[in-house]
Amino acid sequence: MASEAELKAAGEKYVPKDYDPALYKTRHSFAHVLAQAVTERFPQAKPTIGPPVEFGFYYDFDLDTQPSDADLNWIADRMRQIIKGKHAFRVREITAAEGRELFKDNPYKLELIDGLTNGQDEYGNSAAGAPLLTVYQQDTFVDLCRGPHVETTRDLDSKGFKVTQVTGSYWRGDEKNKALKRFHATAWGNEADLKAHLERIEEAARRDHRKLGRDLELFSNEPVFGSGFPMLLPKGATVRRLLEQFITDYERHAGYQHVYTPDAAKKELYRISGHWEHYKDSMFPPMDLGEGGQEWDELCLRPMCCPHHIQVYKAKPRSYRDLPIRIAELGKMYRYERSGVVGGLSRVRCMTLNDAHLFVRPAQVKAEIAGVLALMKKAYADLGITEFRFRLSKNDEPGAASKGKYVDNPELWESSTRMLREVLTESGMPFFEAWGEAAFYGPKIDVQVKDVMGREETLSTIQADQHLPEQFKLEFKDSDDTAKRPVMIHRGVISTMERMMSYLIELYAGAFPPWLAPVQVGIVPIADRHFEYAEKVAATLEEKDFRVENDLGDKRMNAKIREFQLQKVPYVLVIGDKEMAADSAAVRLRSGEDLGAKPVAEFVALLEQVVKSRTQK
Ligand code: ATP
Ligand code: ZN
Ligand code: ZN
Repeated sequence: MASEAELKAAGEKYVPKDYDPALYKTRHSFAHVLAQAVTERFPQAKPTIGPPVEFGFYYDFDLDTQPSDADLNWIADRMRQIIKGKHAFRVREITAAEGRELFKDNPYKLELIDGLTNGQDEYGNSAAGAPLLTVYQQDTFVDLCRGPHVETTRDLDSKGFKVTQVTGSYWRGDEKNKALKRFHATAWGNEADLKAHLERIEEAARRDHRKLGRDLELFSNEPVFGSGFPMLLPKGATVRRLLEQFITDYERHAGYQHVYTPDAAKKELYRISGHWEHYKDSMFPPMDLGEGGQEWDELCLRPMCCPHHIQVYKAKPRSYRDLPIRIAELGKMYRYERSGVVGGLSRVRCMTLNDAHLFVRPAQVKAEIAGVLALMKKAYADLGITEFRFRLSKNDEPGAASKGKYVDNPELWESSTRMLREVLTESGMPFFEAWGEAAFYGPKIDVQVKDVMGREETLSTIQADQHLPEQFKLEFKDSDDTAKRPVMIHRGVISTMERMMSYLIELYAGAFPPWLAPVQVGIVPIADRHFEYAEKVAATLEEKDFRVENDLGDKRMNAKIREFQLQKVPYVLVIGDKEMAADSAAVRLRSGEDLGAKPVAEFVALLEQVVKSRTQK
């Protein structure tokens, strides 16, 4: 078993703290069985490390041949045989000296032994307090390992795994080191779980927003823009505009005031806010425009809007009567996300956040957060997001080395965290707490949703902040005429337009509900003689502000219908002689369901109702 640091070095997400321990044992035991089979097939292969990962495990070998499909089949068959052999996993403690003897032909294991005994007696004598090494053996195969493992190979389901592929990797994840072969497998407690997983993968591929983004002409990633800078095509832009209108309308009604502030500011602003000290790693390098001036005059692309909205607050004196002040912006911001994690629309480097900052009196904090939660729930209901959970995201666990990730003010952390916990508790919503997930200036309530593969990501966030008001010396004049400091609430309700779009594309598998669909109605005139009437129907709908596409091409009716259905257009109106005569249209849903002929006026009323209620049909 490799250490967390080694796994990180190997370039894999290390095993999270909440990893199911039973699955951990199972997957890790499968890994030993795989290693036995691989070394039997390729006696020259040298096993290195083989940790459990998200849906299974991998094992890296120093092996100079590329295994064929036949090899992989042989290995999987052999694994099933080993499993059925009911071999016990036997653990034995060894000294480093024994380990060096046992693995003398495997420089990787020797290096691991060195690491494990680092700083200790060269011979790894446990008497001197050196860690005892353990090896696990099943059948003929022995591996250096910390365990734990299942009792015997029979505890594994011989139909519960699938060797998926072999890719390249490097020892310790460093390309300067020896290139290795990484055998990947997905592994589960039983066959049914494996099957369910394989089905989820298929479903995820079908819903993948990057694929749908291309197929439905929503967005694309052009290499010339660089990774993390997607462009929205006309249809994607329509969806975004609708989302923006939707949320800003809600905000206006909830007493928010919208502003436009610059995407960039002098480094000075982020020095005061603390971004430069705590958030620099996520910012693009500052620009020296060659106009002279001091270092702090350099221009930075903003990673957040908070310091900008603070300028709005500061633009004039504020009295207690003015508060709460709710400043909102579809704020464009830039974050230097590592290239390995950006992709599609879900994690980008330039994003537009549905951002707002509420400047409130301390006594108003709870009510304002409750207001944000209510707004969030309303928006989620309209967007069809029904499954989510709340996370209270805290700073680092006491004792953990924070390395400057968070502002150092234990009292503020304590009181802000308590405040958020109380709001969550009082609202009666179940939540869980997590260390190490806060913003640098304060704790957050994050709203977590799951994607098809069961991975969680944050959509909404609400943060209580007493740090930035202090940094910027924000004040309001209280009823007794004294100057008081407001509390700042940062909140994003529907996340960044990018992340929300990626989420919705996958949620709906591209079939947006009619109110969000880039094209709501596709019109299919059957023959040339129906074109004129089709155009009249299109004009009627467009006048009502519906988004319509009228197919005046020379393809056959069925091909036209099929094309609209592939584009996931909610309604298709087919128009022939009968419909023309009756001022009607034959209405079909994208599912293929046929609603029959309806007078155009009736269809308009139906569509108006569906759009207004934001339902699917
Ligand atoms: P994360 O933990 O996802 O990196 P964060 O904690 O840095 O996000 P905030 O600063 O609170 O996030 O940003 C507000 C919201 O913006 C997040 O909750 C998330 O939904 C969204 N978001 C953050 N980073 C990105 C990104 N790189 N691309 C798209 N959306 C993002
Ligand atoms: Zn092991
Ligand atoms: Zn903010």
